[in-house]
Amino acid sequence: MWALEWQNQVLVIDAGLMFPQEDMLGIDLVLPDISYLLEKGRKVLGIFLSHGHEDHIGGLPFVLKKLNVPVYGTRLTLGLVKPKLKEHRILRESDLREVRVGDSVQLGPFRVETVAVCHSIPDAVALAIQTPVGRVVYTSDFKLDPAPPDGYPTDMERFRRLGDEGVQLGPFRVETVAVCHSIPDAVALAIQTSCAWRCSSIGRSPWLGAACRPTSRRPASSGSSRSLKA
Ligand SMILES: [Zn+2]
Repeated sequence: MWALEWQNQVLVIDAGLMFPQEDMLGIDLVLPDISYLLEKGRKVLGIFLSHGHEDHIGGLPFVLKKLNVPVYGTRLTLGLVKPKLKEHRILRESDLREVRVGDSVQLGPFRVETVAVCHSIPDAVALAIQTPVGRVVYTSDFKLDPAPPDGYPTDMERFRRLGDEGVQLGPFRVETVAVCHSIPDAVALAIQTSCAWRCSSIGRSPWLGAACRPTSRRPASSGSSRSLKA
């Protein structure tokens, strides 16, 4: 979770969760501490979601229960959010607002533009945020894949122009994916990869199938969400 603040007005970006480390016995989920956002005099304008992975949306139901503000996200991201809110019985009172790639939304002093990024889940976006003191680019997770499975590469042209125009702050996270068909059959009987976060690493599924085809390997899924939906 990120928060940008200007004169007590706050824009929140993503609301994920983490799973506990091995030393966190008895802990089921690690949730963001939002006590700062709840302090008197502070106005949270909304929560902007970058993509539908659990470490970006998993904490949202817990946050919305204490702070019911508008939530912005692309269609797939909100589609993954809805069952969570339903499970927590807060879907009806939640204010979900769908955005498309390239949209700009004015939230108080912040103008938030969505920029297409390629990731292991479709409909992921970076956020180019114009603030009163300059532009912030939140890339979220992205990779530079010229031929992604969903056909939507990272919008390098927009990033190039943003760079030319000037960016005050820009965090970057790049996703790296191993190429499993480069590992000879004799080396390993089974190759494990993660499609975790409740099956939301959707982009990896066709990639795994294509990697298995020229070898003697066969894809198999396991895990609660996978076996339920496979
Ligand atoms: Zn991600």
